[in-house]
Amino acid sequence: MNCPNCDTRMTYNDETTKLTEFVCPVCHDTVIDWKSAARSARLA
Ligand SMILES: [Zn+2]
Repeated sequence: MNCPNCDTRMTYNDETTKLTEFVCPVCHDTVIDWKSAARSARLA
C-alpha cells in the first residue's frame, strides 16, 4: 500500500489479529486495514 497523500510506500504494524496499521514514513499518515475476520460478519 502507498500513502494516499505522498505516494510513498507505507510500513505496517501487524499488531493485532483484527487490524493492520499502515504508517507513512514521510508524512506519518496512518491507514487502518481491518482484517477479513473482523469484517466477515458484515460481508457474510
Ligand atoms: Zn505520506
